[in-house]
Amino acid sequence: RLLSKALQQAGGGAPRRLYCTKGFFKSPHRAATTSSATSPKFDGTNDITTTPIPEITNAYPDLLTHRSIHQFSLEQPDEFWGRLARSRLEWQEEFRTVTDHDFKNSHFRWFPDGKLNVSVNCVDRHARRHPDRVALVWEKDEPGQQEYVTYKQLHDDVCRVANVLRDSGVKKGDRVALYLPVSPLAVASMLACTRIGAVHSVVFAGFSAEALASRIKDAGAETVITADQAVRGGKVIELKKVVDAAVAKCPSIKRVFVGMRTGAKVNMGPKDISLDQAASGASTQCSPSVQGAEDLLFLLYTSGSTGSPKGVVHSTAGYLLYAAVTHKHAFDYRDGDVFGCMADIGWITGHSYVVYGPLANGATTVLFESTPTYPNPGRYWDTVSRLGITHFYCAPTALRLLLRYEDEWVQRYDRSSLRVLGSVGEPLNHEAWHWFNDLVGEKRCDLVDTWWQTETGGIMLSPRPSSPGAPILPGMPMRPMFGMRPVLCGTDGKEIQGNGVDGALCVGSVWPGIARTVYGDHKRYVDTYMAPYPGYYFSGDGAHRDKDGHYHITGRMDDVINVTGHRLGTAEVEDAITEHEEVAEVAVVGYPHEVKGEGVFAFMVLKEGTHSTNEEITVDLRKLVRSQIAGYAVPEVFLVCSGLPKTRSGKIMRRILRKIASGKPEELGDISTLADPSVVEAIVNAHAALP
Ligand code: ATP
Ligand code: MG
Repeated sequence: RLLSKALQQAGGGAPRRLYCTKGFFKSPHRAATTSSATSPKFDGTNDITTTPIPEITNAYPDLLTHRSIHQFSLEQPDEFWGRLARSRLEWQEEFRTVTDHDFKNSHFRWFPDGKLNVSVNCVDRHARRHPDRVALVWEKDEPGQQEYVTYKQLHDDVCRVANVLRDSGVKKGDRVALYLPVSPLAVASMLACTRIGAVHSVVFAGFSAEALASRIKDAGAETVITADQAVRGGKVIELKKVVDAAVAKCPSIKRVFVGMRTGAKVNMGPKDISLDQAASGASTQCSPSVQGAEDLLFLLYTSGSTGSPKGVVHSTAGYLLYAAVTHKHAFDYRDGDVFGCMADIGWITGHSYVVYGPLANGATTVLFESTPTYPNPGRYWDTVSRLGITHFYCAPTALRLLLRYEDEWVQRYDRSSLRVLGSVGEPLNHEAWHWFNDLVGEKRCDLVDTWWQTETGGIMLSPRPSSPGAPILPGMPMRPMFGMRPVLCGTDGKEIQGNGVDGALCVGSVWPGIARTVYGDHKRYVDTYMAPYPGYYFSGDGAHRDKDGHYHITGRMDDVINVTGHRLGTAEVEDAITEHEEVAEVAVVGYPHEVKGEGVFAFMVLKEGTHSTNEEITVDLRKLVRSQIAGYAVPEVFLVCSGLPKTRSGKIMRRILRKIASGKPEELGDISTLADPSVVEAIVNAHAALP
């Protein structure tokens, strides 16, 4: 609140860089602007022609543009979502009520009297029509060993695992912890839970025993599904050993199913059951549980970038519908495409765009088990060419890592199958945008920078909601998805009207994918998302609505820096600094400053083989930030580091850097989701060595 108050006070006078690409350190990729970047000016109304949504446009033939359909989705949500829910999902009992919200208590219900089963929607109905269509392409850790799973095979596997779970006493509503590599087994296990109405909680199979145990306890799970080992980037991870250590701390656990990934011999204790053995004798038919639309589907923890992770709860029908609709329309997915989302299933992106969205749409989806640099930095593009991927969706952190290497790593692979590129997770800086768009996509693909959160269930802002041909501008997610009314709020809690404004990014509508609660802590849900701006969902992020009405994410509201009354978003300063050819990655934070209130501190990683000295680079960067933003935005300190602290999902943890910059490295808070603690140690030492 204080920060956004400062924002309003600072408003108007401060010069603002409107994400121009005019840096003086242009790399070859940035030199040319894409045709879409120079396309005709928008009037801010997002009034672009759209691919018809048959369910809506057949009934309302006057709705010809994205604006009109979007407007319709906001004005008549029951009609809009009701029609889509009927046509895109298969119901065991049809709903009569579309929405039933209790804003006062923050309870949101969609299709509350409808009944359906998620696994039937994701598997059975496609297996009936296209049994031999490929559902999953498993891109295993070693390149060239991909495996294909058809809808019929997936159906049989889901039923087998579901029968095993049911026979061993797992009941509707029980929570099941999944600690598995990205694999068909993981997908079958998730869907098997949904088949019998159990609630899965997928824990990224790289978290420690401690982190796994705390998630098992929080969920009150009695069952774990894991595998003997995982392999990632050529390294073996002893999953079963981690699970053993976690289970030792969790007396609630009654059974641990152990699947086979490597076939290594692992210790089997009294609670352990071989999943392969049990499943091989199980039936390939399993009657699906009849689930209420609002029954819990899964819980999943946020990345923990801004504090301790929240156990976000999603419910059955609304989540599935929103994942399916956004998968189809944000990416323009068509039958026959091969959807390649590189995310791990341990994150929401893996839930919504590796598993639920694509499978609900009967798509072919890629399960990527490896890392972007294994065995070399060409891995992603090798995968694209081998699997014929049409849609490639990944995170800015991976792009910033890969653009440090020679272009050759991209160019040597055939990428002609690609049609749509996507990014999610952090602001996509201009350098990475151009590298992805110009080099990887050869300027002929659509690049969609999608903004959303674990809590939103699916994409909320994306440049291209179902509108092939609509202009796309670099570095911003631009436009709202159907049913989403983006709102910028000021400190008075009111909406800020007009264009060319900044504020707290909120949502002024209720959409089907909204998280229903934080598991076991509805108060935290209300306090975090609903209470800060009454009547709106508060995202925690800040945004800028530019003069044409397009949305730019400026960073987390918690991270906003206030320098002598000027309010600075971290994304903007970071974007300017990464324009420098020799800077690979940067994180900017504020720290207490006697004169200015807050000073700006930049932690940066340089590219391999840089020729300039750190002093020369710093001089350049000062000029760059001054010219692109303003003098007050120039960091006081530039600290060169070997790496930045990141969450396991690859996001920069600025709150840790803020503590280091403030000289309080002993107060780091919850670091359970930190990927590599040694990075923090190195930065603390480098900071201590500053003059
Ligand atoms: P926690 O809530 O525990 O701090 P987190 O917010 O990082 O963790 P996620 O739900 O994984 O957890 O991430 C959502 C956040 O990621 C958004 O709130 C936003 O800050 C950032 N984000 C996602 N997509 C984009 C994007 N396209 N541009 C800018 N930021 C993005
Ligand atoms: Mg968050």
